Amino acid sequence: MTKGLLFVLSGPSGVGKNTVLDELFKDFDGVSYSVSATTRERRDGEVEGEDYFFISEEEFKEISEDDGFIESAVVHGHYYGTPKKFVDQKLEEGEDIILEIDTQGAEQVRKKYPEAVYIFLLPPSLEELENRLDKRGSESDKSKNIRLKNARQELKEVHNYDYEVINDNLTDTVRKIKKIIIKEQKRRDSQ
Ligand code: 5GP
Repeated sequence: MTKGLLFVLSGPSGVGKNTVLDELFKDFDGVSYSVSATTRERRDGEVEGEDYFFISEEEFKEISEDDGFIESAVVHGHYYGTPKKFVDQKLEEGEDIILEIDTQGAEQVRKKYPEAVYIFLLPPSLEELENRLDKRGSESDKSKNIRLKNARQELKEVHNYDYEVINDNLTDTVRKIKKIIIKEQKRRDSQ
């Protein structure tokens, strides 16, 4: 049986990765989303098991020591990791999966899954990214500044990705991401 395709979506905090994926999944079920584990606090409106598995640092370390993550990283001062069981099982069953992870995590995934498809979502500018973080309103000034500093670092990694998409307009971005996914699926199917 053909194994599933793995898609990796990265991009700086505030660029709109979640909004884009939420919009994509409204009328597209060609890929399944892998829910990450994190030690950061749950934001208002976030749902356990849908947005993240919110766990303690102790739990995170235990899973990590049991080799339960495909990749894990400290992002903006909190631990994040991709549960291995879900992803490997789905890929084995031929289901295509998308991960939404930072550039450190993507680098680890690249070593284990070199055939995966790597997509980087870019903001139109750093000023626009700052506006979006302000609008989100969930970040303190300290947290926002950490995210902006990390964004500059993350943007340097864009050359390691197969596709770059500038998130200027939500509808266009979703259309472009969907097009990339379908193109890669067709390519796999024709092989
Ligand atoms: P947020 O806390 O704003 O949801 O996410 C912060 C950052 O963590 C984002 O850049 C997001 O892509 C990244 N992230 C989310 N889940 C994971 C994960 O499982 N692994 C890694 N390495 N990064 C993640």
